[in-house]
Amino acid sequence: MSTDREYIKKLSPESQVVASGRPGRTKDASLNPNIELSATFHAGGDIGYGRFGNASWKALEEAIELIEGGKTILFSSGLAAISAIFKTVPNGSVIVTSKNGYTGTMNLLRQISEINGMQVRYVDVSNTQEVLTALEGANFAWIESPTNPALEVADLPKIIKQAKSLGLIVGVDNTFATGLLQQPLKMGADFSMNSVTKYLSGHSDVVMGSVSSRNENLLTKVLDVRKFHGAIPGPFEAWLALRGVRTLSLRLAKAQENAMELAKRLSSHPQVDRVRYPGLETDPHHLMAKSFMKGFGAILCIEVKGGANAADRACESSKLITYATSLGGVESLWERRQRWGSEAPSIPDNLVRISVGIENIEDLWLDIDQSLRAI
Ligand SMILES: *Cc1c(COP(=O)(O)O)cnc(C)c1O
Repeated sequence: MSTDREYIKKLSPESQVVASGRPGRTKDASLNPNIELSATFHAGGDIGYGRFGNASWKALEEAIELIEGGKTILFSSGLAAISAIFKTVPNGSVIVTSKNGYTGTMNLLRQISEINGMQVRYVDVSNTQEVLTALEGANFAWIESPTNPALEVADLPKIIKQAKSLGLIVGVDNTFATGLLQQPLKMGADFSMNSVTKYLSGHSDVVMGSVSSRNENLLTKVLDVRKFHGAIPGPFEAWLALRGVRTLSLRLAKAQENAMELAKRLSSHPQVDRVRYPGLETDPHHLMAKSFMKGFGAILCIEVKGGANAADRACESSKLITYATSLGGVESLWERRQRWGSEAPSIPDNLVRISVGIENIEDLWLDIDQSLRAI
């Protein structure tokens, strides 16, 4: 779609997100891709029907391809993307995954392991030796890093290398980092998946997912799942998400800067028992994150003094930060994760996940401090 993809490929990521996914530079061609609202196409072409392809998806897929470093296909949600990958894993396979992963993924794995006779080995992804041992005799590894919401960091380069040498298929949930902070495909992973809902779209107005891969064969299987099961995104949503992608590097940089500062200040707050943020030098995952990530992301967690009720009180008291689930948008959100009752038991009752946005740092601090003092 873009005139010179080879040229854009050589640019740095902050330029790529701006330049990619645009129509060719012909006279009077529009700068932005159109929202292609069509359920079908004139016969004889490559697409054929609206469930098989769409120019608005294609534009966003091209942009994410550059960010992740591998051919990309979109899905109607992040979880639809994960489901599509797992649909390609043969029945009876042995899967290695985090015991603290995203709850949606955990629920999905529980269901498919029952229905399809999969054996799931749940590991502490930050314990590299435990992961490497679990890989022996397994078929598939699904690694989320940093994990949601425990913020553990896996030794992705080492784990991926070992898994590939043992012949496993490896998928990484890259939602918290995005391809701007780490590129699992470059490390040798077969799949890198994003909940586009989060940082890529960045404005909490779209639900969407993506799967990227350098393995043509595997990606074709996942594409077939999208075709046959039909979890396709809407063209308008794809267009909106692409608009969000344009500012990804700016949003992420600012949000990370805010997260770092909040993590530091919260570390000495009288109402906070513990801060989790890989950017803090005192965090158990700091050195690992520093060794291969380009940044520490913009999610941090606090464990609030006084237990679950105190944590809920704080979340209800904020005026700038929104008390809501989800993450990765320009606006800061927070919630006590265990309010859902579906988190792993290892997640403390008083743990509040904060998705730090791009607001003014002093405004954020004032709001958090006042909310914690309102307990
Ligand atoms: C939100 C999220 C998902 C699921 O994405 P949806 O777009 O909500 O379906 C998967 N993994 C992680 C890490 C997430 O945060």
